[in-house]
Amino acid sequence: MAVGADVLDSITRAVSRERLVDTALRLCEVYSPTGSAGEVADALAELLRREGFAVERPEAGWPTAPAVVARLDTGRPGRTLQFNGHLDTVHLPFVKPALRGEQITGSGSADMKAGTGAAVEALLALRDSGVLSGGGVLLTAHDLHEAPWGDGSQLDRLIDDGVRGDAALIPEYLCDTLAIAGRGQATYRATIRRAGLPVHEVMRAADDPNVIAVGAELVRRIVAWNEQLSGDHDPVAGCQSAFVGQLHAGEIYNQSPSECWLEGTRRWLPGMKAAEVEAEFRRLVDGVAAASRTSIELRYQVVRDAFRLPLEDPLVAAFDRAFVATGRQPLPRGAKRFVDDGSSFWARAGMAAITHGPQGGGAHTLEEWVSIPELVRVAKLYAATAVEYCSQ
Ligand SMILES: [Zn+2]
Repeated sequence: MAVGADVLDSITRAVSRERLVDTALRLCEVYSPTGSAGEVADALAELLRREGFAVERPEAGWPTAPAVVARLDTGRPGRTLQFNGHLDTVHLPFVKPALRGEQITGSGSADMKAGTGAAVEALLALRDSGVLSGGGVLLTAHDLHEAPWGDGSQLDRLIDDGVRGDAALIPEYLCDTLAIAGRGQATYRATIRRAGLPVHEVMRAADDPNVIAVGAELVRRIVAWNEQLSGDHDPVAGCQSAFVGQLHAGEIYNQSPSECWLEGTRRWLPGMKAAEVEAEFRRLVDGVAAASRTSIELRYQVVRDAFRLPLEDPLVAAFDRAFVATGRQPLPRGAKRFVDDGSSFWARAGMAAITHGPQGGGAHTLEEWVSIPELVRVAKLYAATAVEYCSQ
């Protein structure tokens, strides 16, 4: 079904700016660093129950903060559109929410509790207006999103357990591009160790491995490897890369340390297998260790897999039409520079997932803000997309 002027009118009347702002403030006023989003999840569940929804709370591997799941089902044939948000915030000091003109400020306002509030408002508006003629909407909210404290495993588990729609919308703060491809990302820490304790340099055995030299060799190999990888290029997502961000060893100038460590990232392209990317890295590290008589422990964490939006999926056309219906031109296509939950939907279930949310700023800082008119726009857009997408 298409969103005509009458349907858009109904949606516009049903979206309540006041209720949306209340929801966003309610979510933002609960401190919820990654791993500890239980209390804010309870608050969201309570809010949805008060609105009459039968809320499910699957633990999905994280009993500290069971996920929040609510459904709006028309009971008629059609597709299910999922609205998905994370309720956790990065581990920075808590900044209480506040209203500042046309903005909400505070921890999680941009990333992404207010956006999740806009998705909730879209759900309520669809229910109140009755404009959804088929299919349904699934709302999911979860913890464990932000790396390195979270590993995305709670959402992974929901997807694997079938708590998912046919396609998903994610109200993160990306709003000026429709991201159609993005690189996967892992972080690593390689720790090089030799036998024995740190000693004064004049006391060490002549054939003792020098962990700093081994660290330097590992850096040299990774930099050379990155050179090679940069030739492997996706027209949208960009290049593969292997990056070193820090290198540490030693305490004073004349002590021979027994340990050296380095950290960085590895990024790869859509279509590659994350496990093979990791195995290749391990071979490189093992080669350096074997040649140096040191041990190298590689801690390697896949943050999210690579991402592609299947442009032929009906979600894409529905989203574009909803954009036009709500008075805008369809967004230009581009890269997703950061990894997000869209990668999980695509890599684990082959689902189309569009990341689009309210304009905001200061994510991962103490100065977060989100635009209230943008929250209202996103609530209408999500409702209109559901109307376009769900009824076949
Ligand atoms: Zn986020």
